[in-house]
Amino acid sequence: MKAGRTGLDLVAVRRDLHRHPELSMKEKRTASVVEAALRRMSLKPRRCAGTGVLADIAGGSPGPTLLLRADMDALPVQEIPGRSYGSMNPGVMHACGHDGHTACLLGAAERLAARPPERGRVRLAFQPGEEGADGARAMVADGALGAPVPAAAMGLHLWVNLPAGKIAVLDGPCMAAVDWFEIRIRGRGGHAAYPHDAVDPVVVAAEVVTALQTLVSRRTDPRDSVVVTVGRLQAGTAFNIIPGEAVLEGTVRTYREATRRRTAREMKRLATGIARAHGAAAAVDYEFQLPPTVNDPRLAALVRESAAEVVGRRNVVSAEPSMGGEDVGVLFGRNPGAFAFVGCRNRKRGIVHEHHHEAFDIDEAALPLGRDLLEATARSFLAHV
Ligand SMILES: [Zn+2]
Ligand SMILES: [Zn+2]
Repeated sequence: MKAGRTGLDLVAVRRDLHRHPELSMKEKRTASVVEAALRRMSLKPRRCAGTGVLADIAGGSPGPTLLLRADMDALPVQEIPGRSYGSMNPGVMHACGHDGHTACLLGAAERLAARPPERGRVRLAFQPGEEGADGARAMVADGALGAPVPAAAMGLHLWVNLPAGKIAVLDGPCMAAVDWFEIRIRGRGGHAAYPHDAVDPVVVAAEVVTALQTLVSRRTDPRDSVVVTVGRLQAGTAFNIIPGEAVLEGTVRTYREATRRRTAREMKRLATGIARAHGAAAAVDYEFQLPPTVNDPRLAALVRESAAEVVGRRNVVSAEPSMGGEDVGVLFGRNPGAFAFVGCRNRKRGIVHEHHHEAFDIDEAALPLGRDLLEATARSFLAHV
């Protein structure tokens, strides 16, 4: 990694991180790499939530603080072999692009440190544990939104559904809320040949699985969006035994708080009602895990203007919101936030695989665009807000 007049080599930074991926909340080496790079920029990084890193860049005079966020963790995925920059950590891979996000934010940090904004302050937040480990909440608990309290926050995701060279910034919801549920159906076990002497929880579970889909098709306004997925369904030990219990585990994705609360409430009613109708009992455990990522329209407009400076107006495109989850919304707090999708697909080079796929990759031409978008947004926000 070279700093200095030529600037950080973003491809080298990304590839170094890609070779050394680390799982959520275990980003030890990554955090050290980030800290060392920030120190070379004469910044003063501090650890946050263990493996997270924070650093502020103060402008010439007082003004608002903008938080810029990059996540740093990798996934338990075995990368396909044959890449010169492939993971050297078996079973762990940067399969979501967070290596790229970290490189983009380091690149923006270097530029902002070299020529600080005239007023206000930029807070760099290198976040651990985005992939289901609640890293954003851990950072907030450890002071990431402390004084001077950020007035707004921005983050980006390299996005394989968009071609490299394009940027999309949605108004309103762009990533869904993520919830977890488990339904335990308690029946009465027995011999497979004598079902009348038992209460079969498998039959009840089957009915519950099917009925849960009516939460989407019959209980949700068709113009709204909900996903209910049962990802695990477990019961029994042998073909000729009626088990005593069946367990369903799954996830609910929503964009709206009211829809989210209603779905949780009605899931309980549906599961317990169906179980009771069959002489069984259902216990529903429901956890609200991550809020939806909702872009503030005014901040989103500012980020789109910055994107137009970086890639040209015609390359600022629209995109579909995703039912995937993100915990960046936790760092938005109650303040306006914006999350941008930076295209990284390159069909000609075979860079088309979905995030979390073992063959996922990014077109590295997107890295300077992500860096420039973060920098341009920070300068524009601090100059105008
Ligand atoms: Zn991911
Ligand atoms: Zn991700």
